[in-house]
Amino acid sequence: MRPSWTADIATMIAHNVRVDARCPTCDSSKYDIDLHVIEAAKGGDYDLWNRTTACTFTAGCQGRVHFKYMWRGGMWPRTMGD
Ligand SMILES: [Zn+2]
Repeated sequence: MRPSWTADIATMIAHNVRVDARCPTCDSSKYDIDLHVIEAAKGGDYDLWNRTTACTFTAGCQGRVHFKYMWRGGMWPRTMGD
């Protein structure tokens, strides 16, 4: 079930949600990505749910990066997708 505070970038920033990016193909992760950068690039109503981007973690990797969200103080990140 999708929490209402993951509705879009601006809402996640307002709720201080941590987002990690992960590529399962090359097994690379970037933790606690800066949502303000995404907001500046895509707008505050940009929605990361069920969204993937081309992997930039490893040169030549053909994988897709998935996003995970975690409530501050939460135990583990959850995939942003159904
Ligand atoms: Zn990758």
